[in-house]
Amino acid sequence: MPRGVVPRQPARTGRQDKVKVNVQRTTSTAEDTRKPASKRPTVAPKRTIPKPVSSKSAPKKTQVSKYNPIAPERVQEILKRLNDLYPEVTCALTHASAWELLVATILSAQSTDVNVNRVTPELFRKYPNVEAFAALRPEQLEPDVRSTGFFRNKSKSVVGAAKKIVEEFGGQVPDAIEKLLTLPGVARKTANVVLGTWFKKAEGVVVDTHVHRISRRLELTKENDPPKIEQDLVKILPRERWILFSHQIIWHGRKLCFARKPKCVDCALENICHAGDKTWSTVDMHKNAQ
Ligand code: SF4
Repeated sequence: MPRGVVPRQPARTGRQDKVKVNVQRTTSTAEDTRKPASKRPTVAPKRTIPKPVSSKSAPKKTQVSKYNPIAPERVQEILKRLNDLYPEVTCALTHASAWELLVATILSAQSTDVNVNRVTPELFRKYPNVEAFAALRPEQLEPDVRSTGFFRNKSKSVVGAAKKIVEEFGGQVPDAIEKLLTLPGVARKTANVVLGTWFKKAEGVVVDTHVHRISRRLELTKENDPPKIEQDLVKILPRERWILFSHQIIWHGRKLCFARKPKCVDCALENICHAGDKTWSTVDMHKNAQ
């Protein structure tokens, strides 16, 4: 310090004139310190405003994707693989007309297509058209269809359907589902077989024993009642696949996806199938999917 310069002394009044004191309030003022701690106003801590975070630097949320068995992409994959496996399949029941297909389908209930195909060629030689069946009494037909099982009911249905077709539909099998459903022995499965296979009309999905079982294994439905299974399937399948899907699934059920001991090791759908009764699996199995 240069000679003669006296450093500033504190004022006797205790006030420091012209001296700017840059007091930074942090936690309390001098006045505050004179008050009991309980009466001092609380001073909010300095807030730190967070910087905006760019989307690049934001921590990524872990995406937990929930398995949805009827997600469109999964359904499409199933349809694609079925197409690769069974590109050109159709109904396995031998027939040459809508009437013959109707009779064969009625006879196929609780029986196999092979069994029905053994019976129908001779049956249609003996009774060559719907009028010939309409002229019968059910008992007359019974011996001819006995080997397909439930032959009394089936005879009644076939003869009853023939009479109704002759009397009410001019001898022609109707091509409308509402009319088909009025025929004795005809429920949605039989009506959908005739409409889809003969008339090429997609009015619904055929739900037979194979479609029932495999749709549940593939988790396309949780239902057990065929009309409800059909409702589920028409919601998730594109309409142009309703007819072919049933044929493909029926063939898959005959070739690999048997009711007991399905051949999962040879199945092209294996890694997207979580059926609870698989015989071999590379994916987790869902016990309700069966
Ligand atoms: S993996 Fe097995 S259960 Fe699943 S569709 Fe194929 S054969 Fe059927």
